[in-house]
Parts: sequence; structure tokens; C-alpha cells
Amino acid sequence: MRPFQFLSLFFLLILSILLGACTAAEENSSNENIEMAIRKTPAAIMPKDLSKTATASLSAIGDVLIHDSVYLDAETESGYDFNPMFAKIKPYLEKSDITVANSESIIGGSEIGVSTYPSFNSPFEVGDALKTAGVDVVTMANNHTLDRGEKAIANAINYWDKIGMTRTGSALSIEESANIATHTENGITFSFLSYTYGTNGIPTPSGKDYLVNRIDKAKIKEDIKRAKAQSDAVVLSLHFGQEYERLPNDEQKKLAKFSAEQGADIILGSHPHVLQPPEWIETADGRKSFVIYSLGNFISHQQDVYRRIGGILHITIEKTVDKDGSEIRLKDPAFTATYVKNTGNRNFKIDLLANIDPGRNKEIQKHLSTWTKDLNFE
Ligand SMILES: [Zn+2]
Repeated sequence: MRPFQFLSLFFLLILSILLGACTAAEENSSNENIEMAIRKTPAAIMPKDLSKTATASLSAIGDVLIHDSVYLDAETESGYDFNPMFAKIKPYLEKSDITVANSESIIGGSEIGVSTYPSFNSPFEVGDALKTAGVDVVTMANNHTLDRGEKAIANAINYWDKIGMTRTGSALSIEESANIATHTENGITFSFLSYTYGTNGIPTPSGKDYLVNRIDKAKIKEDIKRAKAQSDAVVLSLHFGQEYERLPNDEQKKLAKFSAEQGADIILGSHPHVLQPPEWIETADGRKSFVIYSLGNFISHQQDVYRRIGGILHITIEKTVDKDGSEIRLKDPAFTATYVKNTGNRNFKIDLLANIDPGRNKEIQKHLSTWTKDLNFE
């Protein structure tokens, strides 16, 4: 409660007591006064005086997909340094309260050998650079989770935990897998869930389904239910869709709608490697969820122009608490388009698309506004 709210309540309380005292003293003299005092008391503690509002901002970026040219560019005498690649867009990631990224190429660390497509393994230093750039949460369920087996998953999970990164989508035991990842900012608790359509044909080791969350409606429904019980806003990441398609398919649309109906508030899509537009989803119970079908590549060495374009989704979550409980509202969705540049397969940097090609930036803004007329651009 803010100080002035507390003070007003305090004075109203004193006023009520004084009115009550007057009423008692005049009890015998006039019935009219008693009625007036009774009418005034409830007005002094109107429920609206007790309501309060908080906001928190969330940003999300797409695939962090470290091809060999990218890690070779980051190589130093003692390891790897990916920080220069993120330097230019760091202020855009840092300005929100919570930032989510898709860790597409697992950070199994160089001790098991770094590797590129089709079986990725990235250095721990990718994790350090994401953390330094302002990323708070990573999603780990995607088609490359099992690329380098259980050892890479264990290394990645242990490293994320070591640097204090919230992670979701992959776990090392059934018990751990049952934990819902949460993150609280400004009194608003977010929960994070992450699922993938598949793992490039690599089967999950028998009895170890917890290693990677697969898209399974029954599981998603159950997990959202549990997540809702312990958070204000549910952020669901879905690794789905058709690669290189700039619009979502029916399956993506149906799954997003299903998830929103179950209680997902923000749905973050990835996998197509290109941007797919966002939209509001109105649910049967009168809520408005927000989905972006694909966040594209944030960093990679895919070379087609649309695969170099990614971006940062921003959205604000407003929480209102009153005597009946609390509710959240999503507002002010915005997008900052980014571009991965390099010279001769070296000097990889993420820059704002507006700095690289203003005309293309306009085209992307139009594309992303396909279904969302209130999307702002920064
Ligand atoms: Zn993928």
C-alpha cells in the first residue's frame, strides 16, 4: 500500500470512530442522526479505495542458434566471448523487467566438444552473454534439445542454475520436471512453460520424458492449471510450425487458441526461423491472451534475409488487486525488429533492422501488424 493510501484510510477510520462516538452520545436525542451515521460508515471504506495496481514489462526474443561460424567468431585465447554480438541491442533487452529467450542450441559446454548443425552444442559463454545482455528466462524445449544427449542437457541445466538463469522445458528428474518455473517482478508472479513439437527424430531415452517437454495437449492443460495456481500470468513457449513460413499454419493457430482457453496469457512461438505475426486471442471466459506465432532467429548464421531478421517483443502486464482478489490485463504490445549482420562470416553483430534497412523495417512492421492493429514499434 502506498503511504498516501494508508494515510487516507487512517483518517477515514478516525472519522468513522468519531462519527460513531457522536452517534452514541446523541442516541437518545434523535433517531435521524443514527440513520445518517450508519449510512456514512460504509462510504468511508469503499472497496475501490482498497484496490491497487502494479505493472511489469516482459520482453521475448527468438532462437539463439549458434552455428560454427558464430562460435568461431567468438573464440578467444581462453574460451569464447559472445558479448560484442549482443552489445548494440542490450539496452532494448535490459529495459523490460523480464526477458525470455529460446536457447535453441543447447549449452552443453566445450568440455564435450562444441558442434554445429545438424547436432548442435554451444559453449557455456553463450549463457553468460545472454545473462549479461539482460535475459532472465530461457526456454529449453526445442527440436535440438536431444542433439547431444543427456550429458549436454545436464551440463546446460547445471550451468543455467549456476548463473541464476530461470529455465523451463527440460529437467533432470521427474521431481524437478514437476516444478513450475516462476519469476516475480513488482509483485507480479510469472510462470514459464515450454514444449516442442519434436526432436528431429531423436527418441527420448526410455523412462526419461522429463528431459524434454513435448507438445501434448493433456500435459499442457494440466501444467497450465498448476501454473495458474501459483502465478498471476502464465507465459507458454511453443516450438512449433513450419520452417521458413512467414504465416502460422492451422495447427499453430489451433494450439495457441487451445492454450489460451486453458489459461495461457502470453504465448511465445518459435521454430520457423522467420517472424510470424502476433494476435490477440479472446477466450470464452472473457480474457485476452496474446500470441506471437514465431519470434524468428535472434542470432544464427542462417543467411536468407528473413532468417536474419528477428526481434524483441515487448508487452506490459497490469495487475489489479482489490477485495475480491486480483486480475491481470495485458497492454501496449510493441516490437523492435533486429538483424544479424556479419562480414565474411566474421564480426557477427545483432543490430536494429531500422539501422540496417529502414525500408525493410517498414515492410516487417506491416507484416507483423497483419492481425494486431495496436502493435507499436520501437
Ligand atoms: Zn527449432
